[in-house]
Amino acid sequence: MSDSATDDEGGATGAVDDVTGTAGRAGAGTGDGTRAVRAGLPEPVKHEPTLPGPVFAAHFHLPGDPTGPYTYGRDENPTWTLLERAVGELEAPGRDDAETLVFASGMAAISAVLFSQLRTGDVCVLPDDGYQALPLVRAQLEAYGIEVRTAPTGGDAQLDVLDGASLLWIETPSNPGLDVCDIGRLAEAAHARGALVAVDNTLATPLGQRPLELGADFAVASGTKQLTGHGDVLLGYVVGRDAEAMAAVRRWRKIVGAIPGPMEAWLAHRSVATLQMRVDRQSATALAVAEALRERPEVTGLRYPGLPDDPSHEIAARQMRSFGCVVSFTLPTRARADRFLDALRLVDDATSFGGVRSTAERRGRWGGDAVPEGFIRLSVGAEDPEDLVADVLRALEASAD
Ligand SMILES: *Cc1c(COP(=O)(O)O)cnc(C)c1O
Repeated sequence: MSDSATDDEGGATGAVDDVTGTAGRAGAGTGDGTRAVRAGLPEPVKHEPTLPGPVFAAHFHLPGDPTGPYTYGRDENPTWTLLERAVGELEAPGRDDAETLVFASGMAAISAVLFSQLRTGDVCVLPDDGYQALPLVRAQLEAYGIEVRTAPTGGDAQLDVLDGASLLWIETPSNPGLDVCDIGRLAEAAHARGALVAVDNTLATPLGQRPLELGADFAVASGTKQLTGHGDVLLGYVVGRDAEAMAAVRRWRKIVGAIPGPMEAWLAHRSVATLQMRVDRQSATALAVAEALRERPEVTGLRYPGLPDDPSHEIAARQMRSFGCVVSFTLPTRARADRFLDALRLVDDATSFGGVRSTAERRGRWGGDAVPEGFIRLSVGAEDPEDLVADVLRALEASAD
């Protein structure tokens, strides 16, 4: 939460301390649940709400010299400030070198890091099995004269293409394949070559994995998924520990205007309070669902990093604190997969993941991901585990040929 990230219009200061005058009260407890419910809350003020409501302001009263913290609504907003502090306390607890910026969506955050850090002639390493929009990003980077190399997430294969790179982009666990790579090992190799390292932490959430502690320079995520968890908000964030790099990310947000609305920021902050409960419940149920699916003969390619015999488990167990809410697997045919999705009663056929209501989809319907026709990505919600497992098993029976 650096105050040094000013830009030439003087408006974009890290305004956190101006709002609360303290380093935050979450430090009073160290458990994830305690940190989540208190994250980003201001000091109590008599007659004020615990979590102040959204501040709707395009501009702020600003007589005299236009100094921060609050000048114009594209540069700063007090509702963002509190949310940024909350995300920072979860992604980088106890680190005062970390700064957090919130964005309109996960893609806004991802683009902000890539396009603010890379220049023509630079080399960037991306995963080839990551988020669906990365190929579009790749094309855009290449259009700007940036060389893009890709390698799979599994087996730390990105190590082999790092020479000469200035930025390494990691997505672990990868979406939708759920491969995992060793963040610490990759970060060390990248840093030895002078490259910055960014980790897409969407799937794990900051309670499941803390990339900065594992050596990354940036933790970037879509808050649209489990961070907010109700399927009603689009949001993104970047947490970084290099003040100069973060100043460039902040400048990018200002130039592009990829800012969250105050209402979205407030809803997100309100939702973060229940993150630990949701993560706990959803990852425990995801494991139960994966264990049930493992017994089924029509299920192949089952992946869940929390399963002890999953190819990702060993590294995941070392670097993750919980294993996420997504389970992926393949049914024999596209028709079987469609019938299965249709037969589910507690699981909506919808894209995205991380919400309190379970969703599933046949991922191949989008094109773009290298997955079999019968590949299902199932996002486990907060339903009772026994109800959800029963629904999945019943839908498998009902969809049999
Ligand atoms: C959804 C997602 C994104 C993009 O986030 P939006 O909020 O939809 O822009 C990026 N990375 C991963 C891993 C995602 O799942």
